[in-house]
Amino acid sequence: MSIWFTEKQTENFGITMKVNRTLHTEQTDFQKLDMVETEEWGNMLLLDDMVMTSVKDEFVYHEMVAHVPLFTHPNPENILVVGGGDGGVIREVLKHPSVKKATLVDIDGKVIEFSKKYLPEIAGKLEDPRVEVKVGDGFMHIAESENEYDVIMVDSTEPVGPAVNLFTKGFYAGIAKALKEDGLFVAQSDNPWFKADLIRNVQKDVKEIFPITRLYVANIPTYPSGLWAFTIGSKKHDPLKVEEERFHEIETKYYTKELHQASFVLPKFVQDLVE
Ligand code: SAM
Repeated sequence: MSIWFTEKQTENFGITMKVNRTLHTEQTDFQKLDMVETEEWGNMLLLDDMVMTSVKDEFVYHEMVAHVPLFTHPNPENILVVGGGDGGVIREVLKHPSVKKATLVDIDGKVIEFSKKYLPEIAGKLEDPRVEVKVGDGFMHIAESENEYDVIMVDSTEPVGPAVNLFTKGFYAGIAKALKEDGLFVAQSDNPWFKADLIRNVQKDVKEIFPITRLYVANIPTYPSGLWAFTIGSKKHDPLKVEEERFHEIETKYYTKELHQASFVLPKFVQDLVE
């Protein structure tokens, strides 16, 4: 017998979906973890009753977090993913032959464990020899890193609970220190409909640290409002000035080199947030 799960995206608005069964549920040391089978989106990971990823639409987010920065950097070899315990960003990172090592640091080992068990399509590459998985606080990992990474991707939950520190200017300064002299980072930056202030503040903080700061967007139907934003901060390489020959062939379902450029063309109300 199916039930309906509703994610309240604001106090006054949400999305609801038919859930056929709950595959796993527990209160971890950090958050409420639910793995559910939905009729529309397949298996889905929820954290604190917020949609994290689903089998049917995960490719949009994971491709856009990974390929925009990885095609922007001329030779990305050493990569860090903060959060990302579902493994989707790592799967996309490994499609780039230049990548020699990808480190994932997620604070909650249970997310990794149950993503491997119930989301094999997404988490299936976490055992790849180029991948090192660490369970720990990404904020601390960044604080202990210096001049190490070509690209850093912050694939965290919303700025609440364990992720609250991952949206601070101090964290972005730590990222700049952890990056090599021509490094760049991307951070998922929520949505312009309900989190305009967050996007505005992140842009302001990142602009004060990185010479090149941009925002790009993608359509993610199961995320709040469906319009998702990503902040990119770069010490040297501009995501809008990528040499044509950089775009080597990779298998994708959403990302293309044309969409890479187009995703930085923002609706006026979003453009106003970043100016
Ligand atoms: N794509 C999703 C989104 O945009 O909301 C995020 C998915 S991923 C599962 C989010 C991960 O961030 C979770 O597994 C959570 O454990 C992790 N996380 C939250 N705070 C963290 C921190 N301080 N350090 C490392 N990982 C953290």
